[in-house]
Amino acid sequence: MTLRNWIPIALVASCLPSGSCARWHSTPVLPARNSIVLDQLIVFSDSALPEHHRLLEELRSQRTLVSTKLRLPVSDEPIHIYLFPTAEKLDTFMRVNYPAMPQRRAFFVESDTRLSVYAYWGDRVAEDLRHEVAHGYLHAVVPHLPLWLDEGLAEYFEVPRGQNGVNRPHLDLLAEALSQNWRPDLQRLEQLRTTGEMTQIEYAESWAWAHFMLESSPERLDILQSYLQTLNKSQTPELISTALRRIDPAYVQNMADYILVLRQSLR
Ligand SMILES: [Zn+2]
Repeated sequence: MTLRNWIPIALVASCLPSGSCARWHSTPVLPARNSIVLDQLIVFSDSALPEHHRLLEELRSQRTLVSTKLRLPVSDEPIHIYLFPTAEKLDTFMRVNYPAMPQRRAFFVESDTRLSVYAYWGDRVAEDLRHEVAHGYLHAVVPHLPLWLDEGLAEYFEVPRGQNGVNRPHLDLLAEALSQNWRPDLQRLEQLRTTGEMTQIEYAESWAWAHFMLESSPERLDILQSYLQTLNKSQTPELISTALRRIDPAYVQNMADYILVLRQSLR
């Protein structure tokens, strides 16, 4: 889940013109009692954070993974991670500061000056943080990343190490959809502008295109890496669908086949 250029609404004490205070709003407090710096990451939490926490170390090393896999430079721009103790506290914070946002387990927010991740310690905190922090590493070096690719890559990097980026729930969903005559359509994904337009199948398809380019052939990997490098230089690359078609006119069918072959190989 990504928000770009959102301006938090600051709720402050407000008084009626007559001078009598009608109501005091208070901004829900961010967890900030403890903090730890892990290279580019600054992690805030109310409870003490061990320096060698396995998940935090994984998030720290994700920086090199993203950079190596995508052939991108690393950045020193801080990514602020706020870990709430409960879903309710995160929800209260988001409702006050980002009232138009749908309810989610975790958020990445890019403002003009800051990259922030909001999440809570729950059963899926590892997956959520790998996903949102991947957005952070990407946004720190790639401006104007298309929505589908932003989410597709985050869905790839949220998978635990050692699973080759295979997002099993997405793979199962797409295999089922293919059996019911659904077909991938990258050009349609390239038109998406807001996360509100994305349902589970769009997230799954975005992941599949990312996986297809990262893992199926050196030529497709090169298309993805070149695309990101052009964005990194603040230039406008040609669409990925156009580049894929040039090297393989049957790229859509081949992606559909790739999904089925990948799933078969895991059985
Ligand atoms: Zn996301």
